[in-house]
Amino acid sequence: MIVRDIMADFELYQPTQLKDAFALLDQYGKDAWKMGGGYDSLSWFKERHKQPKAVIDLGGIAEMKGISETADGVTIGALTTLTEIENDPIIKGKYRVLAEAAAKVASPQIRNAGTVGGNVSQDARCLYYRYGLPCYRAGGNTCFADTPEGVNREHALFESDRCVAVSPSDTAVALVALDAKYVLRSSKGERIVSAEDFFVGPKVDIMHLTSTRPEEILVAINIPKKWAGSAFYFEKVADRNTWDFALVNVASAIVVKNGVIEDCRIVCNGVSAVPRRLTAVESIVKGKPMSEEIAKLAGQSSTRGARPLNYNGFKIPLMANLVTRAIRDAKV
Ligand SMILES: Cc1cc2nc3c(=O)[nH]c(=O)nc-3n(C[C@H](O)[C@H](O)[C@H](O)COP(=O)(O)OP(=O)(O)OC[C@H]3O[C@@H](n4cnc5c(N)ncnc54)[C@H](O)[C@@H]3O)c2cc1C
Repeated sequence: MIVRDIMADFELYQPTQLKDAFALLDQYGKDAWKMGGGYDSLSWFKERHKQPKAVIDLGGIAEMKGISETADGVTIGALTTLTEIENDPIIKGKYRVLAEAAAKVASPQIRNAGTVGGNVSQDARCLYYRYGLPCYRAGGNTCFADTPEGVNREHALFESDRCVAVSPSDTAVALVALDAKYVLRSSKGERIVSAEDFFVGPKVDIMHLTSTRPEEILVAINIPKKWAGSAFYFEKVADRNTWDFALVNVASAIVVKNGVIEDCRIVCNGVSAVPRRLTAVESIVKGKPMSEEIAKLAGQSSTRGARPLNYNGFKIPLMANLVTRAIRDAKV
């Protein structure tokens, strides 16, 4: 019998220095669990599907908090809450697409404690996986969603390989659109990973959605100033307006000069295991006028190659419409 709603025991550590957190990660290895605001973590613990020996609550590490402008753009500590991002004057003024995405996550209560590091690092929401069934993502050899009777209206249209779960993060699309860089640090050093490379699909690693190694902590996210003040668009479509994950969301950053699209980045989530950057669409629209016609063409092209499952075919026109709007309605 699975006992739910009562967490298994673990050692709780609350370091206030990164070096102490790294020492704990080195000590416990794969038995350690990093925790930001805890909104994804606690549901795993309560359901008992993840039972780490040690939970490292990062919440006391001051250097991982806050937003500051730098010579190259802006740096956001991974422990910065989604509410802080939503209300920050620099983000709202220059990188609005991220503030809008953060404002659409879950509910005000979750945004008050949920961190941007936790939001981009959160795990898949496939109901079979979350329920604890032995699917590929959980280390088994079946996908319960990709079967004739599988409940798969929330699952992937593209790039699935055995697992059809999608990346659920709302801020991830905005950060890929802004070409953000993720700062991953461990006791051995630091590496900087682009927002696109931070996320990995099942072909690369079927059990994880990100390339963060067990010994690493995402300490900060840097946004380059190249896209500051661009035309932006964010939209999320979910079954409910609050406390719900995106069926599909979209973010765009567009540089328009004299009515012509000079440069752009357009990204969708909820359609594959990683935030899907629409590079083919970007090539179509670059150098073209910012017009209804071009936006529609872009929308139609965005779904080329989609492979719907039994119940998620509705995502194809939804994605096409969102991409059309992300170009046509992008505003400075
Ligand atoms: C009811 C509900 C509704 C939700 N709706 C949405 C939604 O609409 N949109 C959306 O995007 N999300 C949604 N979420 C998901 C998610 O819980 C929140 O988005 C929140 O941002 C997660 O942040 P956290 O700090 O609480 O994460 P945590 O639970 O602390 O961490 C999540 C994961 O990230 C890892 N992690 C955390 N911080 C770091 C770090 N600094 N370095 C390395 N790894 C780290 C943890 O190990 C864990 O695996 C929802 C969650 C709930 C419970």
